[in-house]
Amino acid sequence: MGTDIEEIKSRLNIVDVLGEYLRLTKTGTNYRALCPFHNEKSPSFMVSEEKQIWHCFGCQKGGDIFSFVMEIEGLEFRDALKQLAEKAGVELKRAAPGTAEKKNCTLEILELATKFYEIQLWKGAGKERIVNYLKERGLTEETIKVFRLGYAPNGWRNILEFLIKRGYAKDEIEKTGLLVRKDDAQNQNSNVKLYDRFRDRIIYPICDYSGRVLGYSARVAPGGDESQAKYVNSPETEVYHKSKALYGIDKAKNEIKLKDFVLLVEGNMDVIAASQAGIKNVVAVSGTALTPTQLDTLKRYTKNIKMLFDMDSAGEAATKKSIKLCLEKDIAVQIVELSFGKDAADVVKNDPEKLCKAIDNSKSAMQYLYDKAFKVFDGNTAEGKKKISEALLEMIASFSNEVEKSHWIKKLAQGLDVTELALTAELKKAKLIDRISVSKKTQVDELEKNENRQKIDILLEELAGLMLVSGEIWKEVQEKKEYHAYFSRHALLDLMLKRGVESNFDFNSLTRSIDRELKLHAEKLFFRKKFRLGLNNSLEEVLMENFPKEVKELLSELKKEIKKIKLVQITKDLKLAESRKDRTALKFLRSEFEKVLGE
Ligand SMILES: [Zn+2]
Repeated sequence: MGTDIEEIKSRLNIVDVLGEYLRLTKTGTNYRALCPFHNEKSPSFMVSEEKQIWHCFGCQKGGDIFSFVMEIEGLEFRDALKQLAEKAGVELKRAAPGTAEKKNCTLEILELATKFYEIQLWKGAGKERIVNYLKERGLTEETIKVFRLGYAPNGWRNILEFLIKRGYAKDEIEKTGLLVRKDDAQNQNSNVKLYDRFRDRIIYPICDYSGRVLGYSARVAPGGDESQAKYVNSPETEVYHKSKALYGIDKAKNEIKLKDFVLLVEGNMDVIAASQAGIKNVVAVSGTALTPTQLDTLKRYTKNIKMLFDMDSAGEAATKKSIKLCLEKDIAVQIVELSFGKDAADVVKNDPEKLCKAIDNSKSAMQYLYDKAFKVFDGNTAEGKKKISEALLEMIASFSNEVEKSHWIKKLAQGLDVTELALTAELKKAKLIDRISVSKKTQVDELEKNENRQKIDILLEELAGLMLVSGEIWKEVQEKKEYHAYFSRHALLDLMLKRGVESNFDFNSLTRSIDRELKLHAEKLFFRKKFRLGLNNSLEEVLMENFPKEVKELLSELKKEIKKIKLVQITKDLKLAESRKDRTALKFLRSEFEKVLGE
C-alpha cells in the first residue's frame, strides 16, 4: 500500500486536488484559502506545493491529499485512497473491501441508470415528444446533453429489469433510491413489491462536485399524469443527501472560483437556462431551503452569492431566511431582481441578455430589504417606523461584521428619523438568540485540549518541530542524553532520536521511511515551525536565526519541567514509604529529593 500512496502522490498535485474543493489564491510560492474545517473570515489555510502538504493556522489541522479528502468527504483512509487512486489512474495492488465498495456499487448503478434514461430520451420512448418539449422551453441539444437530461418511460419495472439484466441484485438497486417498495395487501402472492420510482418523467441527474451522479430530480412529462407531484426527487440514500446537494455544482465550480461569485437560483431549469446563456457559475438548491451545509460548500469557492429567487410572499420568507444564514456566515449576498418573466428560465428563453443585465444590476440584500421595507410601510408614522425597524433589525443583527452592522444602524436611524441609541437597544432584543460562532467554539476546544495536555508534552512537541526544520538543532538535541528518557513520551521525538544518524538529520529522508500517522504529525509540526502568518495574513517563513534562542529557552523550560515531575514523583513515593514505615526507602528518597532539588 505504501508504494500505491507514493505513486498516487507523484501523479497528483495537491494544488489540483484541493483546488477542486477550494478557491486557492497564490501567495508567493504557496497557496491559501478560507479553511473549510473551521469558520473564519481571513484565510489561514495554507497549501505548500513544494512540500505537497496543507496546514491551517486557525484550527491546526493539516496533512497531505489523503488526509484532506478524508476530512472533507468524511471518509475512512481506505476509501480516500481509492478515490484518489481512481483520480490518479493508479490501480491499487490489493483492493480491500470497505464501505467504499458498497458506495461504489451504488454510484455504478446510478451511472448506468443515467445512461439508460439518456438513451430513452434520445432514442427510446422519449424521442421527439420530450426532446421537442425541452427545445420548446429554449434548451439546445448540446445543453440537454451537457446536463445529461433523460427520460424515465412509463411503466413499473423498466429500470428495475434493465438493472437486473445487468447483474445487479434487487437490494443493491434499492439502495440507489431508484425503486419504491410497497406493501401490497391486495396481492396475496407477494407481500412486497418493488417498482420504479420515476415513471413518465423527465430526469435531471444531481451530481456531486466531480460530476458523479448521486440522485435525481424528476419532473412530470408534458401530457403526463398531472395529478401526480410535479417534481419527485430521490430519497435520502447513502450517497444522496438533500441538505448537501447543489444542483449544477460540478459544472459551475471552476467558473465560480474564476468569477468569485455564485448565482443561486431556485430550480434545475433555471440553472440549465442560465448556463446556456453563458452564466456558468450557477447552482440551485433542489427542493429545500438553503442549508448551512450547502453554504459551507459554496464558501469554499467564493464568499459572494447572488440570489435569484421568486419574490412572491411565500418565496420571500424563505429568501429572508437564506439571507440571514449568509450574513451569519459572513457571506456577501446580493439580490437579482427580474423586471419581467417569472423565472430565469423564462427570461433566458426570451432574451438571455436581460438575465446578464439583471445580474449586473443586483443590489446588496440589505439594501434590497431596506428599500422594500420603506416601500411597504410608511416611514413617517409611528406604526410604520415600528414595522420597518422590526423587519430590518432582525437582519442587521445577523451581520457577523460589526462595521456593516453599524453602517446599517446609522442608515436606518436616518431613514426613520430616530436616534441610533433607540435602535441599538432594539437590536439587542433582536439578538436574543445566543450565537456562539463555530470559530469561537473550535478555539475553546483547542484551548481545552492544550490545558489537558501536560506542559512537558507541549514543550516536547515544540522541540520536535524545531528539530525537523533544522538538522543542526536536531543534532544538537540528540547529543543531550540527559533528556532522552523523557523524549520517549513523544512518539515522533523518540523515533527521531533513534533514526537521527540514519536519516542524516534530514526531515525529508526521515519522512520517507516512517508510518503514515507519524509522517502527518511530522509534516504538521514542520509547517507550523517553518511558517507563520504575518501582519496582513501573508505567509512568512520564520527566520532560522531565531531558532537557536528558542531551542535554548525550550531546553531550559524542559529542564525545569523534568525537575518538577521528578519532585512530584519522589514526594508521592515518600508518602507511600511513610505510610509503610519503610526507613531504608525514606532515607534514600530524602537524599534523592535533595539531589534533584540541587540540579
Ligand atoms: Zn482551519
